Amino acid sequence: MRDLALEEDLTTDLSILQSHLDGMINRVQQNSNALRRFQAFERRLLNLNSLSEMIVHILEGGKAFFDLDAISLCLVDKENELSEYLIQDGFDIKTTKQLTLLKDRHQLKALFGFAVKPYIGAYHPKCSEFFNYTDRKPVSVALIPLIRRGKYLGSLNFGSFQQERFIDTMATDFIEHMISVVSICLENNLNFEMMRRTSFIDTLTGVNNRRFLEQRLVEEIDRCQRSGEPLSCLFLDIDYFKLINDTHGHQAGDYILKQVAGSVKNLLRNNDVLARYGGEEFVALLSNLDESKLMAIAERIRCTVESLNMVFDGKPIQVTISIGAASYSAPKHILSNAADIAMRLIESADAALYQAKHNGRNRIENNGFIIDRALMESAASY
Ligand code: GH3
Ligand code: MG
Ligand code: MG
Repeated sequence: MRDLALEEDLTTDLSILQSHLDGMINRVQQNSNALRRFQAFERRLLNLNSLSEMIVHILEGGKAFFDLDAISLCLVDKENELSEYLIQDGFDIKTTKQLTLLKDRHQLKALFGFAVKPYIGAYHPKCSEFFNYTDRKPVSVALIPLIRRGKYLGSLNFGSFQQERFIDTMATDFIEHMISVVSICLENNLNFEMMRRTSFIDTLTGVNNRRFLEQRLVEEIDRCQRSGEPLSCLFLDIDYFKLINDTHGHQAGDYILKQVAGSVKNLLRNNDVLARYGGEEFVALLSNLDESKLMAIAERIRCTVESLNMVFDGKPIQVTISIGAASYSAPKHILSNAADIAMRLIESADAALYQAKHNGRNRIENNGFIIDRALMESAASY
């Protein structure tokens, strides 16, 4: 009898132990799945090398990887650099409601304080700004400050509809690890973007440099071969610029270069390119214009520069420019080599500029459309 009771007791103990063990195995399994998901998220994050890709990965990937009901990202963008980079990358800031660009760090300081600790716990009206984009507010949240070298870069905000999902007794080592990884990636991408932009900018005039032009020109030709739209090139050269340097000094020359570049840039559309080709020479790329519109813009540029009233060291200085124009329109069904077209388009505009100089300066010459070699070859084969 006693043996039977003992056996029953043991069986009950065993089944309790078994269910404990099952629970533990289950938790280990869940943790290891979470860890694997986080590692996959992190690996992808580390491999991205553009700010816009990184933001998309955090917002879309993060939500899925961590199985969240809400996620948002705030980034400090005091100088509007971030928004400029993102817009140039084609990222739609306006429709990405989960991304907030903050003008200063105060909001983050007020929320996280100087202790710079994440906030993990119940949803609080203090964090409502981070979840403005969604009507249904989360019940529990993890607000993670993103910090590098003691400076707030922003915050990453997780929300859940479950009360117990984010509680303040939660182990924070995983979240702290995430702060470091996301912050480092953010800083790296920002530095990389900055380097990429500055390596394509002419430091004196602030317009693009020749390296940028050469890359962009080939891309533009590719694009116009796909779209069938024409591409035009204006080659601009300041007249008698050497005389400006000789008369007013090199500093005055630099000032003129900046003024001329700035005023030409103002006359172009956002998508047009203006690059300093060298010395006092600039190249503008304009897409989708017929010849009369192109000539109208060239004339507006010429007139604007002619009527710039510049003053350096108390002395008025005026300059004029000569312009050479050339265009390219891709023939249907024939794709010529883009690099070859790029070279010939620049050569043709340069030849027109030479003609403008020859014909008296402060004028425009147009060489019209360059002939596509592929078209000529295919015509010759008939
Ligand atoms: P043209 O009407 O035939 O174009 O005559 P130009 O004097 O403009 O042309 P030229 O090629 O003889 O001289 C160009 C001058 O531009 C010579 C060079 O010292 C000056 N230059 C080139 N780069 C810079 C620069 O960054 N700053 C200044 N101040 N001058 C520059
Ligand atoms: Mg020149
Ligand atoms: Mg010149």
